[in-house]
Amino acid sequence: MKIQDIQAIQTLLATPKKIAIIPHRNPDGDAMGSTLGLYHFLKKNNHEATVISPNEFPDFLAWLPGSETVQIFEKDTENCTQILKEAEIVFTLDFNAFHRTGEMEKTLEVLDTTFIMIDHHQKPDEYATYMYSNTSFGSTCEMLYNFIFYLEQKDQIDKTIGTCIYTGILTDSGSFRFPNTTGNTHRIVAELIDLGVENTIIPNLLFDNSSYNRLQLLGQALQNLKVIPEHKTSYITLTQDELNSFNHVKGDTEGIVNYGLSIKGIQFTAIFIENKDENIIKISFRSQGGFDVNEFARAHFNGGGHRNAAGGKSTVSMEETITKFEKLVQNLTL
Ligand code: 5GP
Ligand code: MN
Repeated sequence: MKIQDIQAIQTLLATPKKIAIIPHRNPDGDAMGSTLGLYHFLKKNNHEATVISPNEFPDFLAWLPGSETVQIFEKDTENCTQILKEAEIVFTLDFNAFHRTGEMEKTLEVLDTTFIMIDHHQKPDEYATYMYSNTSFGSTCEMLYNFIFYLEQKDQIDKTIGTCIYTGILTDSGSFRFPNTTGNTHRIVAELIDLGVENTIIPNLLFDNSSYNRLQLLGQALQNLKVIPEHKTSYITLTQDELNSFNHVKGDTEGIVNYGLSIKGIQFTAIFIENKDENIIKISFRSQGGFDVNEFARAHFNGGGHRNAAGGKSTVSMEETITKFEKLVQNLTL
């Protein structure tokens, strides 16, 4: 971060403020961990802070400290709009363009306030007054730790804030496996553990919390897995009918995409999930090695993300989407 920006933010935060904190739509562990971590930090410093999520967060994150205070924009639009209008500062965390908040975008676009972005996605939009944007970090939570350090307030990080930060580092690094996991990541985690963060319990809360239906849905997804070995590619489809037949709830498909990469020799994988409510096929892409799925998602599926993990969507049918994908894959040399 620029030293002038840090000083300006220190001055802003020197007196109590009304502050809104926003994650991206369909928030994941990093989005919820970073917004709630910042929430606890700001509360500790006497600010009136509110986390406003564009839509509901998944159940497997509901144990995060402070999650019961999170306001849901799409459920309680009027109240959330009022909080946003009154906010003297709006933090946007773990995303880099207003459209990542869905219908909340329209409200954010016309807000005349100070925006502060903390984010690790590529090609950020220029809406923020102060921007801490760096794609070399594995998680926004790791950046939040640094942000608090830059404000010279590291001693404020306690077990509660640390628990939120640990959650985002853990989930966005694929349990410390993805390439952006550095010595610094582990040094931060070591400090968090020393603060009492329960590093053996949190993974259990996050990952060992499946319903029977979720495992059955996973079984269906694995049955649907297709492999294109000559292009080192695999993909999974899940139709709305399949999701319904396992009474799927939000969060049930989280992480399933990664199974496509666990096959020997596969370097590129995708999962296509039909969403009849929104009339789209939501897509997640994953790669290992040099293939840039962020570029692929941007170029062909109206999306984006990071080099090895990205997402996008398609507005045509599942069959047409798969035909398009298979054609694109035929032209890849991985
Ligand atoms: P996931 O596949 O886990 O939903 O997302 C993987 C990464 O891609 C995340 O960093 C997420 O923010 C990003 N991403 C997912 N969907 C979209 C999308 O539709 N548009 C953009 N720009 N990024 C996305
Ligand atoms: Mn993230």
